[in-house]
Amino acid sequence: MTDYNWCHGPECHTIETQSRVRGSADNKVLRTIKITMYHPDSPRIWNYFCNQNCLMRYIQKHLQEIVKIAPRSKALETPIKIEKEKYESHRYEYNGNYDNPQRVPYMATRTTIKSVDND
Ligand SMILES: [Zn+2]
Repeated sequence: MTDYNWCHGPECHTIETQSRVRGSADNKVLRTIKITMYHPDSPRIWNYFCNQNCLMRYIQKHLQEIVKIAPRSKALETPIKIEKEKYESHRYEYNGNYDNPQRVPYMATRTTIKSVDND
């Protein structure tokens, strides 16, 4: 037996798609999408939302409650090292002659962010 959830999108049941139509002749409804959980033990976000639209509407509706779960009262920081290295590159100079650009070498600087072990 496969577990399932109903999509948590607050307006999922109002979106007009054929996949949401249920019921018989004069008793039709748009129903929330049923999501089959193929991996119920892994906490996948797509076990709870049928698409990105429903996910974003849920977050927008419950944003204040969600951020209260894990509030961020100060900035976090990650220690890094910056490495700068020179390397030879080139650019094109036209000098008014756009049909025959000249390839001109120059020394460029490459900046790389390196992570730092916190041991
Ligand atoms: Zn949905």
